[in-house]
Amino acid sequence: MKRFIGRVEYFGSLIYDTERREYIPLDQDGTNILLNLKPNINIDDLYHKYFSSFFSYFNFKSFIQLIQSIEIIDNQYNSNATFIENEDLEFYLNNRFISAPLKVRIALTYQCNLRCRHCFSNSGKKTQQELNEELSTEKIIDILDELKNSGVFYISFGGGEPFLKKDFFKIIHKANQNKMNISISTSLTSENVKNLIEEEIPIQELKISIEATNYKEYINSRGKNLFDSLKNNLEIINKYKKKTNTYITFSFVLNKQNYTYLPNFLNFAEQYNADSILFYPIYNVGRAENHPELILSNQEIEKIQKIINNMKERTKIEIEFFSIPLKFGKWGLYENYGCGCAKTTIYISPYGEILPSGMFIKYKEKFSLGNIKQTSFKQIWKNIALNQINKISPDPNCTGCNYYEECKGGCLFRSFDKYQKFSYKDPTCLIK
Ligand code: SF4
Ligand code: SF4
Repeated sequence: MKRFIGRVEYFGSLIYDTERREYIPLDQDGTNILLNLKPNINIDDLYHKYFSSFFSYFNFKSFIQLIQSIEIIDNQYNSNATFIENEDLEFYLNNRFISAPLKVRIALTYQCNLRCRHCFSNSGKKTQQELNEELSTEKIIDILDELKNSGVFYISFGGGEPFLKKDFFKIIHKANQNKMNISISTSLTSENVKNLIEEEIPIQELKISIEATNYKEYINSRGKNLFDSLKNNLEIINKYKKKTNTYITFSFVLNKQNYTYLPNFLNFAEQYNADSILFYPIYNVGRAENHPELILSNQEIEKIQKIINNMKERTKIEIEFFSIPLKFGKWGLYENYGCGCAKTTIYISPYGEILPSGMFIKYKEKFSLGNIKQTSFKQIWKNIALNQINKISPDPNCTGCNYYEECKGGCLFRSFDKYQKFSYKDPTCLIK
């Protein structure tokens, strides 16, 4: 396998660096140059033959030097990149849709050692029969290969509690063999976490759901007292982080009762050297549907936004709040797409169902995009490219909004959950 793996896209290409484990986007000109380079080619001839009518020699040479500096080509113009062959490429180019998602979230199991009030997937203790219906290790390993062959290298494992999945470390080993960028969402309370830490298994990001900063809140929110296990594992995670360079994110689900503790969350995150904090408002999905008293009002979301803005001023930790206007990440040249569900990311449930995101479990009969137990990933993604979820016209209330280019109407799930329509602007948006 060459170090760089490329996929041609309608905007140019995405080149995945298997050493740094990150995508590098190239525009169409850059992609054309890269695809035309041959070992020991005369670079001036190449420029005059194909590119002189499109851009200056200076720009051409600068681009060559740039891709040499990041080692996509060497000094003799040998390419270190292999491009994935895609028999459906014309289809994706014509539809201006990416040929595969950028990131796939795989919920490995709905088994969990906790029982949180806010849990969108109703995770908890599962019977053997329920566990038998979940994807087998062999199937997950096949899926990881299918994703790699489609050029999907960002994988996020969650659950339930992923560390409780049978053969979890076999699965992680496979993702590492495939040189994938691995993120794990965990409560960091399972005994099995120790293997990760002791064996220094490389993981690019650990997203640790904290949810409380003392015993009382912990039991109240999570149904069980594993606060000591969390703290013990957090103590040793710093050593692991130094060896593996893992990025540590603390996550908190905010509800009506806990948002006043926000400053305590920040102190806790600083005490344990988190790199970033991710705050989510509680969603009315899963177990939270039994707790309407926890759902935040827009006024409370506005208050939270102010508290978080103050927190940002007094800490080095990166803080993100999943609130409006949504700043959907820009993946290089592929940007301005708004909500990424079924456009840049998808969710695979432990039963193999593919959904735009985990929250769509609530409407899975309506929005299931296929089941990976029966249909290949490639076919499912092609169906998604044609799905109406990608063809939503914006709410007229959003046009003219300064944030429109990034936000494009906000969270699709929140709009659907409130209005049973995607084309309405996010109900938590406070912009008039
Ligand atoms: S929210 Fe996370 S830790 Fe809590 S029950 Fe659900 S899966 Fe388990
Ligand atoms: S008005 Fe629409 S585009 Fe603007 S922030 Fe609100 S939801 Fe986003």
